[in-house]
Amino acid sequence: MFRKILIANRGEIACRVAHSARRLGVETVAVYSDADAQAKHVAACDEAVRLGPAAARESYLVGASILRAAQATGAEAIHPGYGFLSENAEFAAACEKAGVVFIGPPAKSIHAMGSKSAAKTLMQSAGVPLVPGYHGDDQDPALLASAAQAIGFPVLIKASAGGGGKGMRIVRNASEFAQSLSSCKREALASFGDDKVLVEKYLQRPRHIEIQIFADSHGNCVYLFERDCSVQRRHQKVLEEAPAPGMTEQRRSSMGAAAVAAARAVAYVGAGTVEFIVDHDGTFYFMEMNTRLQVEHPVTEMITGFDLVEWQLRIACGEALPCRQEDLKFEGHALEARLYAENPDRGFLPSTGTLRRLHLPAASEFVVHDGARRASVRIDSGVREGDTISPYYDPMIAKLIVWGEDRATALARMHAALAGVQIIGVSNNIEFLGRVVASSAFATADLDTGLIERHHDELLPKHGVPEPQVIALAVAAQVLNERSRRGSDPWDSIEAFRLHLPASRRFEFEDGGIEVFAQLDYQPGGKLRLTVGEHGAELAIAAGPEASINILWGEERVAGDVVLEAEALHVFHRARYRILTVIDRLQHTADADARAGGLTAPMPGKIVAINAQAGTRVARGAALLVMEAMKMEH
Ligand code: ADP
Repeated sequence: MFRKILIANRGEIACRVAHSARRLGVETVAVYSDADAQAKHVAACDEAVRLGPAAARESYLVGASILRAAQATGAEAIHPGYGFLSENAEFAAACEKAGVVFIGPPAKSIHAMGSKSAAKTLMQSAGVPLVPGYHGDDQDPALLASAAQAIGFPVLIKASAGGGGKGMRIVRNASEFAQSLSSCKREALASFGDDKVLVEKYLQRPRHIEIQIFADSHGNCVYLFERDCSVQRRHQKVLEEAPAPGMTEQRRSSMGAAAVAAARAVAYVGAGTVEFIVDHDGTFYFMEMNTRLQVEHPVTEMITGFDLVEWQLRIACGEALPCRQEDLKFEGHALEARLYAENPDRGFLPSTGTLRRLHLPAASEFVVHDGARRASVRIDSGVREGDTISPYYDPMIAKLIVWGEDRATALARMHAALAGVQIIGVSNNIEFLGRVVASSAFATADLDTGLIERHHDELLPKHGVPEPQVIALAVAAQVLNERSRRGSDPWDSIEAFRLHLPASRRFEFEDGGIEVFAQLDYQPGGKLRLTVGEHGAELAIAAGPEASINILWGEERVAGDVVLEAEALHVFHRARYRILTVIDRLQHTADADARAGGLTAPMPGKIVAINAQAGTRVARGAALLVMEAMKMEH
């Protein structure tokens, strides 16, 4: 085993690799940009080397600096994680040349799979089934347009060097083709430095099923079953699971065999994933091979009990695979949910800011069959409370991974895990994930890549009036806060005995443009009565540990957490999160119309296209500017 490795990544994957290395007694070197000097992954490693400024291009993507850091610290190998340089053949070759082990496949295999177009040509000759399409070298726009015509609309334009759904455009008819092509090329160039595209048939309601493979340097190759990653937004995975619901033994082995054939065709070594797109009838087509560890690898670890990073390290050291295909089996069902700093109500636009509160559920362990210990809840995160989600990198906050004896059990655990998350400071997809997991489509495993869009109204409901329980919790928090501030001075207490009528107060809050009211009456004997809308009942309040509050409102018990910040009350109640702002009638309200005629970017970014000039008459909804931020076009 290596004595010391360098982890050429950041965030959760750097922490995750460091965790396995530590368990194996391998020392770790972190690298970081200026934005990450205090990051969790730096703390997770034994040593750390600064790379450069925040921009990935000047830090995590500078192969020469990373190699120098490895040599300076005496690291024998480099683990690239995913993203950044993980699929960069030149970097892998530079490592080989410098005598530093690249923990991944040989540069030649990466190169062979690096271009989706070239990979398709290769797979075609290896007999792996492909989606009908054009993946040639000639990039003449007229030729591409006629290829699209020949394939038949709708078609999908993909960046050949693509990844993470970037650059991908669905084109529904010939008139949209030219614009989609240029936008795809622009995004591809910005993200991958290569604007080559391919065009293929856009399948309706397909599933995304991928096979995890592992090959060693002794000629052995196995598959560690499949993952279903059909639940996607913007062609990016948000929920993954293993095994794939409805998978038959026969299809599993034929997909596994196709994946192994794909790996063998490029003399693969290490961990890889062969992605397939699957039609309703179960016909599967090769999409691409990712020559690295995937974000969603934990679901495979949960059902097999293996540590895939350990396998990667052992194979990179020259060890043989620990088992043969026929010895491999899996147990139970695992789900992974990706927590992102993004705003589902605004087209999943990434959100940046400081994580003023970050509560994640506790990881747990318990015993199952044969005395094998299995974690039922696993959290992989790369940030801590107080850390910042910056515009420079992927806005993932954490991955929630659960395991259960069967899918229903895993699903129930996922519900509970999601309900245990509390985030203040950035918009996030927690409630959205909760709704997906709770939806009947997901619960009954009616999966395909269009699930989110098809159930848009159910999964992304309009912001409505907060539940009375939420308002009651907010009032209770206000009362508790006042009590704790006042101390015991009787002259200060609104709850003390008074003459004439009992005291009564009106609470006014604003929640996403909706105003809500509550009335609190201080009754004789110190009792409180709360009225929200039609519902009025006696209110008893008890403060729990930290921000938790328990109330008894009439017959109803309500529990939640309320965090007070200046005028805002952050209320967490039954997997829901609302921000109620105390309305201050004396405060000058900004004139909303003052913004008409102006435009404010919701995040820092770079304007990459301007579609209108001063004086142009535009229709509502027309695209005026294209901004590139967080490697996506908005
Ligand atoms: P990337 O490498 O950018 O992630 P992929 O080729 O892996 O791109 O595709 C990402 C997702 O896009 C797939 O999981 C699937 O949902 C969708 N997709 C890709 N190709 C097709 C297709 N031909 N028809 C329908 N959907 C597709």
